[in-house]
Amino acid sequence: MLAADDIVELVNAYNPKTNADLIRAAYDYGQKMHEGQFRKSGEPYFTHPVAVAAILTEQRLDDATIVTALLHDTIEDTRSTCFEVERLFGSEIAGLVDGVTKLTQLQLSSSETKQAENFRKLFMAMSKDLRVILVKLSDRLHNMRTIKAMKAEKQQQKARETMEIFAPLAGRMGMQWMREELEDLAFKVLNPEARASIIRRFITLQRETGDVIVRITGDMRNELDKAGIEADVFGRAKKPYSIWRKMEAKEIPFSRLSDIYGFRVVTGPEMDCYGALGAIHQRWRAVPGRFKDYISQPKRNGYRSIHTTVSGRNARRVEVQIRTRDMHEVAEAGVAAHWSYRDGERVQNRFAVDPTGWVTALSEQLDQDDDHDAFLEAVKLEMYSDQVFCFSPKGDVIPLPRGATPIDFAYAIHTRIGSACVGAKVDGMRVPLWSRLKNGQSVEVITAQAQVPQGTWLDIAITGKAKSAIRRALRDADRERYILLGRELARAGFEHLGKKASDKVLDRAARTLRLDDADTLLARLGSAELTVAQAVNAVYPDIDRDLREEIDRTRVVVGLHHGQAFERAACCQALPPDRIVGITTRGKGVVVHAIDCPALTQHEDQPERWLDLRWAEGAHPPIYTVTLDLTIGNDAGVLGRICTLIGEQKANISNLHFADRKPDFFRLLVDLDLRDAGQLHSVISALGAESDVASVRRRRDTTAVSEKAIVEQRIRL
Ligand code: MN
Repeated sequence: MLAADDIVELVNAYNPKTNADLIRAAYDYGQKMHEGQFRKSGEPYFTHPVAVAAILTEQRLDDATIVTALLHDTIEDTRSTCFEVERLFGSEIAGLVDGVTKLTQLQLSSSETKQAENFRKLFMAMSKDLRVILVKLSDRLHNMRTIKAMKAEKQQQKARETMEIFAPLAGRMGMQWMREELEDLAFKVLNPEARASIIRRFITLQRETGDVIVRITGDMRNELDKAGIEADVFGRAKKPYSIWRKMEAKEIPFSRLSDIYGFRVVTGPEMDCYGALGAIHQRWRAVPGRFKDYISQPKRNGYRSIHTTVSGRNARRVEVQIRTRDMHEVAEAGVAAHWSYRDGERVQNRFAVDPTGWVTALSEQLDQDDDHDAFLEAVKLEMYSDQVFCFSPKGDVIPLPRGATPIDFAYAIHTRIGSACVGAKVDGMRVPLWSRLKNGQSVEVITAQAQVPQGTWLDIAITGKAKSAIRRALRDADRERYILLGRELARAGFEHLGKKASDKVLDRAARTLRLDDADTLLARLGSAELTVAQAVNAVYPDIDRDLREEIDRTRVVVGLHHGQAFERAACCQALPPDRIVGITTRGKGVVVHAIDCPALTQHEDQPERWLDLRWAEGAHPPIYTVTLDLTIGNDAGVLGRICTLIGEQKANISNLHFADRKPDFFRLLVDLDLRDAGQLHSVISALGAESDVASVRRRRDTTAVSEKAIVEQRIRL
């Protein structure tokens, strides 16, 4: 294990102004905290944070990042606390350590690939400072380098996570070397045979053709020398994983794979890049269509380089990247290039991308903030700051807009879950439905079958999906109530004219008014989109006009003065059995509000305009219960058919019990909610026609109202 002084020396090499005491103090504190803890390999646990810090020194990172690496597991795994780290090392470092801890605590349990992108976003959204991600990536890199000590199953899991989440994240941070190493380490676990076979191929190839890399590098150096260009030339075989990926993508065998070698020419001034390109193209034939100039047109993430592919010896293609030293540094270190030091100074690399700009580039928004110093203190990841990422009980990450509530979460999972939501647990604790969700929280929605979406949810939900689902459900529920009210309005109105609003009459009215069906007509009446006078006129166009106008102020509302017309207020749309009050107006007669309507406050100081109102008795459609006594064959599905038949007559089953059960038959008592005798007759005839029904009759020895009584009551109303 590296000693404290070794770490200090590593940092000192690129940053002589380092705060050596701070690093030593962090080292001692971390060592003390992890004392007595061991890794799976048997080594003292503290070897791990030290190794992570060492990886970060290779990227020449600032003191705060190195100290964070040394402390990165203390809050999670020891008795240390965030508070103590802040007291000892200050708030910047405490914030960074806390950030790493939060990422460590995430359960990356989902195995679905489509979730990986959400996890990567979650990581970025949770890290207020990109250095948190740099530490977390180095942490993962060291764990992957030492993965052999883990159980096979755990190795698989960690390798998958690395392949799906961490390696792409490193790539997104612009750290190509880190991405490649993470991929290769994961590939070794996930597909060791494929990796071994690719390496064997390389060895065979080398035996056949000699060391191609050394030869080509030598050739290139020669050419550049001749052209008088000072440059470093590096060559390397591509990593097994990237070769594997190419073989998979192009579905070709290794032998037919071109450009398995890559070369880099790193020059001083930018002009030399073009000089080098000329020298190389003069000596080797350029492969058409493979030339790209990312120097004159940098990639959005700041990457600059000239790419070309040439045919080398034996017609083997080689890929060449040409760039300056500064460009090279940014291409390798990515976002880390920002905190890099050289000779005690923060590197002034004019190509290094402002991390805020970097992030902006990632999110493909081009409005970049040019204030170069503002980001240095704490880099905010604006990219995902308008989103939160929460976990479902299954471990899926659900992305939501900032400010989202458990209602939004429930609807994001499924409309059914949203509609049935009665409560929520966040991280295992019951919370009110209006709570705002935070990044990384796990949310469990509590549902109940009887629940229906509530009007108040519209104020709680912020996502369009939830809001529109709630509105739709409320509209459907309103429709039911409108139909009930509409039926009563029609009944009272038609009766006033000595007519009956029978189903047949309503159907006719609906047809004449070009409405879908009688229910639609009733709903329109109930919601006051249509007047009863219009409905009456549709069926009885000859009825006296005065009489027709009169029916619109029939007895539905009690308490109106003679000749007063009323109108339901649009703000509260009161329906029976809501308590109501009337406000007299000049133009519209009396406007009826629900007693709790907020609009009423504006009339508080005008008591003379208030009118006591109530819904007329029987403003609810009357419902009568009748019990039917059925004997039915004991056949598969018969019960379901009977319920369907009853439902088709628009009757409600309010209760159902078995009176007697024999192998072949059973006797069934069914309580039905019915409107009138006509409906009872249709139910009885429908059941009588069903072959499985042996007998059907009314049970008269109960409290049920007789057919005649129903008719009488009906008429009395
Ligand atoms: Mn760790």
